[in-house]
Amino acid sequence: MKVLKFGGTSVGSAQRIKDVAALITRRSGNLVVLSAMSGTTNALVEIADYLYKKNIDGAKETLNNLQAKYAGVVNELLSTQASRQEANKGLADIFNFIRNLAGDIFTIFEEREIVAQGELMSTLLMYLYLKEQGVKVMFLPALDFMRTDKNGEADMTFIESKLRPIIEANPDIEVFLTQGFICRNAYGEIDNLQRGGSDLTASIIGAVLKAEEIEIWTDIDGMHNNDPRFVEGTEPVHELHFEEAAELAYFGAKILHPTCILPAKLNNIPVRLLNTMQPEAKGTVIYNSAPSHTIKAVAAKDNITAIKIKSGRMLLAYGFLRKVFEIFETYKTPIDMVVTSEVGVSVTIDNDRNLDRIVNDLKKFGTVTIEPQMAIICVVGDLEWHNRGFEAKALEALKEIPVRMISYGGSNYNISFLVKQDDKVAALNALSDHLFRQK
Ligand code: ADP
Ligand code: ASP
Ligand code: MG
Repeated sequence: MKVLKFGGTSVGSAQRIKDVAALITRRSGNLVVLSAMSGTTNALVEIADYLYKKNIDGAKETLNNLQAKYAGVVNELLSTQASRQEANKGLADIFNFIRNLAGDIFTIFEEREIVAQGELMSTLLMYLYLKEQGVKVMFLPALDFMRTDKNGEADMTFIESKLRPIIEANPDIEVFLTQGFICRNAYGEIDNLQRGGSDLTASIIGAVLKAEEIEIWTDIDGMHNNDPRFVEGTEPVHELHFEEAAELAYFGAKILHPTCILPAKLNNIPVRLLNTMQPEAKGTVIYNSAPSHTIKAVAAKDNITAIKIKSGRMLLAYGFLRKVFEIFETYKTPIDMVVTSEVGVSVTIDNDRNLDRIVNDLKKFGTVTIEPQMAIICVVGDLEWHNRGFEAKALEALKEIPVRMISYGGSNYNISFLVKQDDKVAALNALSDHLFRQK
């Protein structure tokens, strides 16, 4: 069995849903994970935002526009009266459910229920279309099996115990269909796997079912060697190691959700990135045996804050770093980069929610300096330290750009540079010029 995940643009219109249906029925027995149609989750987030602000009119207007869009999709997608009626009834239930949440009390719980509706709508439409086409399709509601534990991690044992018996009992089914992104948490409440989380759903399902492959179908022909939103002429990288893909996803390559590589990697299941709009393109395969001795790609992560703690007390002391890191642990704030010298340590964080409190506590140990609006530029490939010249090449590329921090040697796969966010685009372009365009 393969697990196939289609992102928002891939199911973004009636025609796209039909194209995806043609792709998923090329082979029988696959499990298909769908995102919400593009724009829907953003609209649902906006509706929730209006409701937090008690702007009922704003929420209603956004909701009505969304409902009108779906009415158009139903007419274009479905041809029989019966399936149109079923779709309209299902969608009306969903839109009324959202309207009923617009009460006096609006909390994170209601918000999560609202943002979950996008995937429920896209899978309803795909299900009815496949049925209309005579495909033996089985609907697997994600809220029945996709569960996270108290730490917010996927409860793999529970998921497998729910999913595997259904799959094994239905060998004749041509397409198993489910929602990405949405889940229940340890308390049974509706929750989600964070924005872009449908990739993670696919990887979790692939892992528990020991799938032959996980295919992530999107709007581009694989992982490119640089961010196509900021650099022209980027090219697909056809093979990546799991570790390389994980670094790229974590450091800003939006094509993959940051944590979706881990379940596939742990179970040694190849992940293939493919383009729905160009299904024959080779794409990228992510596995354990990608070629070495090359730099593969560059990615960037924004909104980084650098924090420097300088202290005479660090000199010859032990335990200093532990005390510093404990403060970040207390405020549940992950650290991305770390560099040290004899008199100080600099770290970066991407979540500054507790920055004031962190700084306050750090001041007990030294002089603290903050630099907001920085970006991490991450160069990924075979950067095993015995290889000569790769770090030098990356540094040479950045010679015109002020670099605040450099991190190398944490893994065999990455070298990271911290630059001002304003220099990000220039840095990405300079790296492409030096690393990929000079043959
Ligand atoms: P989906 O909705 O299918 O999940 P996403 O928008 O999440 O799609 O991811 C695909 C997008 O990721 C591409 O359209 C592209 O703009 C962006 N992207 C950023 N970095 C890269 C990269 N290195 N390679 C490919 N795409 C990238
Ligand atoms: N629909 C969700 C989002 O827009 C999940 C996803 O597309 O992966 O973030
Ligand atoms: Mg995505």
